[in-house]
Amino acid sequence: MKKKFKAQIDTFMDEVKTRSPGEPEFHQSVQEVAETVIPYIDNHPKYKNANILHRMVEPERVVMFRVPWVDDNGKVQVNRGYRVQFNSAIGPYKGGLRFHPTVNLSVLKFLGFEQIFKNALTTLPLGGAKGGSEFDPKGKSNLEVMRFCQSFMTELQRHINKYTDVPAGDIGVGAREIGFLFGQYKRLQNEFTGVLTGKDLNWGGSFIRPEATGYGTVYFIAEILDRNNDSFEGKTVAVSGSGNVAQYTVEKVLELGGKVVSVSDSSGCVFSEDGLTQKHLEFMMELKNEKRGRIHELADAFKELTFNEGECAWGLPMNIDIAIPCATQNEMEEEHAQKLLDRGVKIIGEGANMPCTTEAVHLFQDNNVIFGPGKAVNAGGVATSGLEMAQNALRLSWDREKVDSKLLGIMKNIHQQCVTYGENEDGSVDYVRGANLAGFVKVADAMMDQGAV
Ligand code: NDP
Repeated sequence: MKKKFKAQIDTFMDEVKTRSPGEPEFHQSVQEVAETVIPYIDNHPKYKNANILHRMVEPERVVMFRVPWVDDNGKVQVNRGYRVQFNSAIGPYKGGLRFHPTVNLSVLKFLGFEQIFKNALTTLPLGGAKGGSEFDPKGKSNLEVMRFCQSFMTELQRHINKYTDVPAGDIGVGAREIGFLFGQYKRLQNEFTGVLTGKDLNWGGSFIRPEATGYGTVYFIAEILDRNNDSFEGKTVAVSGSGNVAQYTVEKVLELGGKVVSVSDSSGCVFSEDGLTQKHLEFMMELKNEKRGRIHELADAFKELTFNEGECAWGLPMNIDIAIPCATQNEMEEEHAQKLLDRGVKIIGEGANMPCTTEAVHLFQDNNVIFGPGKAVNAGGVATSGLEMAQNALRLSWDREKVDSKLLGIMKNIHQQCVTYGENEDGSVDYVRGANLAGFVKVADAMMDQGAV
């Protein structure tokens, strides 16, 4: 952060914290944007005069609602549902639903705020939103998950439709949950429309949507490597998580000739010195997507793999070229970043949303590690959701190759926008500045065109 702007940024952040107290994740995501956007606004007073940044940090609408449901013992449970409709300047609200015990308003506001910039970078007409519940699908029966989803959608359906707000999945909301949510929406509204993305191929989904976030993450990092006359071939890659994003990140890294040495879940990390193989990946996908098991079962099944209980993926006893966190926010702290620096890491690509703390990001940047922020790196998921919406509107389905090549083109374009806005005088790229400014300018200009709304 340039010293010249420190006071201005601190004053702005004090205002944000006063207006939205007790929301640390939201403050963190705003701070990251303010550090790059406030100096830019200083040179472009039209944005200051229109009070754009202050307007941007205020969601257009927040909906909170009760979600009662009946468990398998006949007992009535109650959870809280949310939808944060943050910004619709460039298109209908778009962003995932998260079902996880850590969900609260702060987490959803940070995710919704990030989504505004991410969606602008995709080049598609998508506004920013996020929603979810602190409901935990883990350990629940299929029928319990279905009853919860039906109750959640019974309220949410009042606030969404294909022109207004189109949710998708996120942590804890995969193909099963999207199916239950869609079924209830269709039943209540009596219409079959593309109101959700991440649908199954049989009923309106898109090829490559399940793969898109992971593939897109790897395509983006491949662009970084290419700009440095390098490739994934022979690189040692540490990955965290074992869910949707991690699975297809691992798949694409293997395809491009990289060696993946780790995957994890919240119980610990599985480590492989020689690198995970296709066989390991297939086992993990079945374990996580069908059996809904724990990650140690992967190491139990293959003697060449090691399970480190309670450990994360960032302290592995070997040199790491590229680290791709794909689990959750703030999973990589400063001490983990230091360990990766000690192991010679050269590139960090955020597959998850805000997985690195502010201190970790600064440490990477201060040590010339190339750092790709989630709002650019993992934008392939929402971009392909945008392609799913386009196919639904056209009432047709593009083949796998077509969607994959569009995804690749979008990720190259996002990388180029980051270079355009983030290139330093020495030719290196500040991807955080690049992503924030490219996203900001597009949304800010649209907001100014539309007046004080
Ligand atoms: P999944 O639910 O499929 O997988 C999440 C993974 O992260 C699991 O391995 C889970 O382990 C782990 N995890 C979740 N919470 C924690 C925690 N508190 N501590 C440690 N590990 C945790 O989610 P996705 O793969 O879809 O999402 C992963 C990340 O990517 C999120 O940040 C999400 O917002 C982001 N993202 C997802 C997109 C998508 O299209 N799905 C698009 C863009 C970003 P466990 O099972 O033990 O909880």
